[in-house]
Amino acid sequence: MANKQYIVIGLGRFGASVAKTLYKLNCEVVAVDIDVHKVEDIADYVTHSVCLDATDEVALTQLGITNFDVAIVSIGSDIQASIMVTLALKELGVQYIISKSSNSTHTKILQKIGATKVIQPENDLGIRIAHSIVSSNVLDYIQLSDEYQVNELLIPDDWANKSIYQMNFREKFRISVVAIKRDKDIIVSPTNDDVLKNGDIVVCICKNKDMDQIRKYLK
Ligand code: ATP
Repeated sequence: MANKQYIVIGLGRFGASVAKTLYKLNCEVVAVDIDVHKVEDIADYVTHSVCLDATDEVALTQLGITNFDVAIVSIGSDIQASIMVTLALKELGVQYIISKSSNSTHTKILQKIGATKVIQPENDLGIRIAHSIVSSNVLDYIQLSDEYQVNELLIPDDWANKSIYQMNFREKFRISVVAIKRDKDIIVSPTNDDVLKNGDIVVCICKNKDMDQIRKYLK
């Protein structure tokens, strides 16, 4: 299967980091900015880098914008430009648009004009870090939907040497354990017979409200 093609528009710290990482992950990445210095700086780290004003629909069309599977609009401080670019991509028929927002009003507008996904990196990272520091056993957290989240839990001492069956996670905590991380190994979909060891990290999916219970338990 052909690699997906990504276009990253706006090469501030966030956009440049996304573009370089996608390229490292063997994706085809075109990086775009209105500032020629930003375009030159990233040239060696992406497939192509192009200097253009992304609010210009003609320029986007000439770039073959509809050939890209995913467009990432990473323009934060110039809200007007961010909205105009997202709208242009939508009107030109780009199927999957991820737009970066700077505040909640900006988020609402981007959602209204049809961004597939709106991210607010500082906010999202803040939430994630807060979740991991409020309980030292919660190492990482991802919000899957309004209702569900994925967590990585460092098991407390009293879970060690107990099997998944004995732990009875579903009944006791209403969580589904999808994997156990042990040193460099990962046990995917552990069975009832798998036994937890000290230092194991349990990767689980649960409802938000049930995670609150677990946090209280782990404290
Ligand atoms: P961060 O550096 O934290 O990611 P940010 O998202 O606020 O911050 P900005 O400083 O807004 O980043 O930079 C976004 C980039 O988008 C800049 O490099 C800017 O030149 C570029 N940019 C702004 N308007 C346009 C446009 N119309 N077309 C293409 N690029 C643009």
